[in-house]
Amino acid sequence: MKKRTIIRFEELSFTKIGELDRNKSVIIIPVSPLEAHGPHLPIGTDMLITEEICREMYRRIKRKRRSIIPVMYPFQAFGYCGANKDVMGSVSVDVKAFGKIMHDTLRSLAAQGFRYSTIITFHLDPFYIKAIHRAIGKVERVYGMKVAEPVSKFFYLNGGISHAGKEETSIMLYLYPYLVDKIYKSLERVEIEFSILDFRKTLRELGAKDAYTGNPSEASIEHGRKLFNDLVNFCVESVFELMEGKYRNFMPRPLGYLPLFLQRK
Ligand SMILES: [Zn+2]
Repeated sequence: MKKRTIIRFEELSFTKIGELDRNKSVIIIPVSPLEAHGPHLPIGTDMLITEEICREMYRRIKRKRRSIIPVMYPFQAFGYCGANKDVMGSVSVDVKAFGKIMHDTLRSLAAQGFRYSTIITFHLDPFYIKAIHRAIGKVERVYGMKVAEPVSKFFYLNGGISHAGKEETSIMLYLYPYLVDKIYKSLERVEIEFSILDFRKTLRELGAKDAYTGNPSEASIEHGRKLFNDLVNFCVESVFELMEGKYRNFMPRPLGYLPLFLQRK
């Protein structure tokens, strides 16, 4: 019989869930839509990276702070990805419906007494991130649950990320080398002009015809290892801060002004 090393929400009975110490438990919720990531990366790139972040976070939290009980919630493979909705393989849902589901999921957990949660997503579409932050804001205000979304914060504070470019290709080379098509080495750099008026255009309409931006050919395993490890450490520290009452989510100002009704449908 397999020994349980990770506490998975879906594997617990309602009585076991009832016994979890609410002051020590943090529910890790992995989420990301399936989305085209250039001709060199799989549709599930954000999902696969998100899952690895969560697994590694779990290990590091257990190792560094035994008092915390991380609980892994099942992967939610949906979300809004309007920027690539016109490319094969992308599956995008209405951003408001998505935000509502995230809100209701958190609310349901809060109603069961859970006090801490972290949403982990490697998908960083501005509309999608805004919808998550809105859901978090409401649950924090109304139900007093504390919820961190540290991945977008990491990239907002550390200089951003292109879509399926150097950063993502590097992380995939590090985590899933067999899923990276060798053509990444010969892909040309794609720079797109982006202004506030372009929020409704897809990446394709903006000139990124193969569903990537930036420079995938500069990717390396070394860069991927460093980026992944820095990101996981940031997420782990964020959980510690969350449980010490010190964590703040981060939303850059332009995102605050972005109305969700402008989503690309
Ligand atoms: Zn991605």
